[in-house]
This record gives sequence, structure tokens and C-alpha cells, in this order.
Amino acid sequence: MRQYQGLPASPGVAIGPAWIYNPVKICVNVERIKDPEAEWVRLMSAVNLARNQVQALGERAKVNIGAHEAAIFEAHLEFLDDVDIMAKVRAVIFKQNLNAEAAVKNVFDEFAHELAQIQDEYLAARALDLEDVSHRLLRCLQGESDLETDLLTHPSIIVAEDLTPSDTVQFDKRKILGICTAKGGPTSHTAILARSLGVPAVVSASFDVDDIEIGVITALDGSEGMTIFGPTINELNLAREKKAAWELEREEQVASTHQPATTLDGITPEVVANIGGVEDARKAMELGAEGVGLFRTEFLYLDRTELLEIAEQTSIYRGVMDVLEGKPLVVRTLDIGGDKSVPYLSMTEEQNPFLGWRGIRMVRERPDILYNQFEALLLAGVGADLRIMLPMVSGVGEVQRAREVLEEVRADLNKRGKTQAEKVQFGIMVEVPSAALLADHFAPYVDFYSIGTNDLTQYSLAVDRTNERVAVLASPFNPAVLKLVAMTIEAAHRHGKWVGMCGELAGEPSAVPLLLGLGLDEFSMAPASVPSVKQAIRKWSLERCKEVAREALAMPGSSEVIKYLKGLTPA
Ligand code: PEP
Ligand code: MG
Repeated sequence: MRQYQGLPASPGVAIGPAWIYNPVKICVNVERIKDPEAEWVRLMSAVNLARNQVQALGERAKVNIGAHEAAIFEAHLEFLDDVDIMAKVRAVIFKQNLNAEAAVKNVFDEFAHELAQIQDEYLAARALDLEDVSHRLLRCLQGESDLETDLLTHPSIIVAEDLTPSDTVQFDKRKILGICTAKGGPTSHTAILARSLGVPAVVSASFDVDDIEIGVITALDGSEGMTIFGPTINELNLAREKKAAWELEREEQVASTHQPATTLDGITPEVVANIGGVEDARKAMELGAEGVGLFRTEFLYLDRTELLEIAEQTSIYRGVMDVLEGKPLVVRTLDIGGDKSVPYLSMTEEQNPFLGWRGIRMVRERPDILYNQFEALLLAGVGADLRIMLPMVSGVGEVQRAREVLEEVRADLNKRGKTQAEKVQFGIMVEVPSAALLADHFAPYVDFYSIGTNDLTQYSLAVDRTNERVAVLASPFNPAVLKLVAMTIEAAHRHGKWVGMCGELAGEPSAVPLLLGLGLDEFSMAPASVPSVKQAIRKWSLERCKEVAREALAMPGSSEVIKYLKGLTPA
């Protein structure tokens, strides 16, 4: 088999050699040794080599991804220098006369096992880091070269079973033509990385990595979800044509991206971006975003050991506002829980974290966290077009409580004579079906609603968004999800409030007529999607879009809706 149908994860066509990322599986032989001193010296030189590799990877990660993500390599260095671990390894070599490989494996496994036993996600993640370090050390002992990432010296399509965040930080982004993985869903780390890099990607393509030849020419269509390893001349020509057409289209989209996106009949919805920090904000501005519709602030809290001070938060928010130069900024308050755990918030292991202590639900036990975040935002937001929204809202009480906290902060700042942002809009994310069904009841407390289709899809269709076995079911095009979207927009408009969408559906050009027809006021997406969505908006008239929305809502399933939208001619 050379042709694999997977799931589309990031649009565009890539052609290039396959670069196989398939980390070597380590095999450790247990041997008795006669000269422990020589074995120890051998181990120490492997530790040195490993240390150099980790330092180099940390540097590369800083350039490729950012200082924040590079921090994991500092933790790796600490393990290599850990006195307790090394004393135990030495004892195994000298007292049990075992070879260095066996000693490293026994001791690192034991430490990792102990860490993994503690019911704490942060420490469990450290256990994975420990495993990573032990594999590196074993590879160094066995004379294997550094990770295969060293070989990514020329532009290639990355082919892997799956990619973890620590795999991806090592790649030189400029060399990635496309990504194809056997596993993972459209909202997996791989897909998000590909979209943020703006390279085509296919996930869940169900191939066996061992069957793919290194360097084989690969044609990948990220819009169709199709990958061909070793295409025929005809297939290659076809892929080249598609690629040329896609590149031309992309050039046109980017060339007009700083113009407003107005429909044929004069409607101009806002097209804004989803960001995780100041770098994304810059990229969003370059690509024509008219502001930010979702700033995911939880990224500021992950990978930390304690809560951010108000002053540090204020300066980060200010940094983003400076880039935006007065354009709208929607900041989402901390959305932890689900698949994002913040270790220092004493989060306990939960059976169903997506249904547990997540997002705004923490306001009851930890109002102080929200309090500090509001304070930092109000201090930073003087002169900015600041909009604050709450994640994971499922009931009116949560919003009332959050507003009380906001009022407390305002009063306290006044008392202390601090200048604060005056005109701040307040909104909620609609990502739990109850919030959509009860949208009318939230109106007295909010200025706007922003629909999070990623979670709304998982909660309305009962599909875990991180589980690739059900990834194919998790379609926001399902009319059940669309009906909740329609209900929210209708309710909001009845009360004179505006509605945005910041789930992945808003960045999907094929969904544009549907969402315009439903009356969406603001589209928020990965910065790389802004040019194509703006171009799509310009091709439609609102009247035609209303018909499209009516037809789509009456369909029985997502495949019918997707097929229908694909077959439409803009008008
Ligand atoms: C969503 O759920 O659609 C959303 C935008 O939030 P996140 O993906 O961060 O959960
Ligand atoms: Mg969400």
C-alpha cells in the first residue's frame, strides 16, 4: 500500500522526501563486568556526551519554538547531574558488578516508577522526562548517534507514528514541508503545530512507520487528508498541479489579507486570531487579523512551579496590547483542567477530567486566582480595547460569581487610587451545551458570547477530543452542534449582544457560508487561517448564506453537511 487516507489536519499540498521520525528502540543486555572502574569511566563519558546533546537541543528548541518550551531540557540536565541517581548507579556497577547499561536502566526505571506512583500529573510528567534521559544515556553508551532529528538537514515531510511536544521542539521549523502521522486527531498536538507553522498535515493515516522507506518521495494533501508514498509520475504531476494552484491561491489570499473581509452585500464580520502569547499576536497582525478573539492565558501558567505574580501578568498582557495597538483583545481567563493540568494548584487526579474541575468552576474554591488575573488585566488594559471572557461556563451562577469578583477588584483598585481600564466588555465562552440552551439567561450579565466549538463538539456528541479512536466522530459540522451554535446566536441577537466563534470551525473556509448564514459576528482562528477565511467571506452574500445555513441545519449528519458545503458555488 502506498496511498493512505487519513484525516485532514492542516490545509495545503506538500511534496518532498519522507523523513522518518522513528526513535530507536533500546535493547539492554545485562552483563557481569570485571573492571568496575573502567565501566564507571565509560559511563561518565556517556553522561558528558548526553549533557552536550541536551544543551544543544535546549539551544535549538529556544530558536525553533521558544524559551518557555526549551525549559524541559533544563530539567533533563538536572537529572543527568542528580547526585542520588548517580550514587545508586555507581553502587550497582561496583557492588553488583553489572555493566553500565544495566545499572542505568535499573536505577532510572526505579526512580521513574516511584515518581509515577505519586498521584500527581506534574510528577508523572517528570517520570516521562526521566525515561527520556535514560534512553539518551543508553544510546550514548551504545554509541548510537543523537536523535534522528539531527538528520533533518534538508526540507522534508516528517513521517512519524505520532509526535509529542518534546519531539516537535527539536525540529528546525524551516525544514518542515509537511507532517504525516499514523495516529493523532485533528485537534492533536501535531495538528496544532502544523497549523501554527502553516504547513500541510495529515493525521490518523494508519500506516506502519517501519514500512515507509527513508527519503521516499511523498505527496501529501492536507486538505483532503491523503498521503501517497512513492507516487507514480501521473500522481506526482497531479500533486504538483494542486500544489501550484494552492500556492497561487495562498499568495492571493495573503496579498489581500490587510483589506477588510466584506460580503458581496456589504456585511463585514470581524476576523481575528487565537493566540497563546506575544509572538502569536505579532504573527496574527502580520497575517491581517483585526484583533484577537481568544488569548489562551493558561499557557502562561503551565510549566511553572508557582502562580504568576500580578506584576508579571500585567507586563505580559501589556506586551500583547502594545502589539495590537488598540485593536480588540479578548482574553480568556485561566482554563485549566481537562487535558491541561497546573501542578501547583493541588489538582487531584480525576476519573473524567473533562467533566471535572475545569475552567471557571475553580471560582468557588479559588476566587483569588481569578481576582489576581482580573487585577492584572484591569491594570494593563488602560487605553486598550479589552474584552474578558470566562471558559467552560455551564450555569448562570458561575458568571454572577465571577462578576462579583470583578466588581471587588474594581472597588479595591479605586480605593488604592490605581488607574484601571474603564470600558471592558465581559463575555462567556459557549462550549458546554447547557450554556447554548440557556443562552438567553446569560444575557443580563454579558456583553458578548464566544462559541468554542472544540469543546462544544466533544460535550454535545460525547467524544473525547484527545482520543484518536473516536476522532472521526468529533465533527463540528454535525447538525447537533450547528443547532446549538444557531440557538446561541439567535438568543444573543435577541438581546442585542454580539457573538464570536473561537473553536477550530471558525478557521475553516468551507464553513464560512454556514457561519455567515447563522449570523456570526466575529470569526477567531489560528493566525495562518486568517487570509483564507477573509478571502472566503468576500465571495458570499448574506442572503445566499442564510439559505445554506437553513439547508445544512436540516441534514442528518456531519458527512452530509461536509459534502453539501464542498459542492457549493459561492454567490
Ligand atoms: C474551544 O473549546 O473551542 C476552544 C476554543 O477552547 P480550547 O480549544 O482552548 O479548549
Ligand atoms: Mg475549550
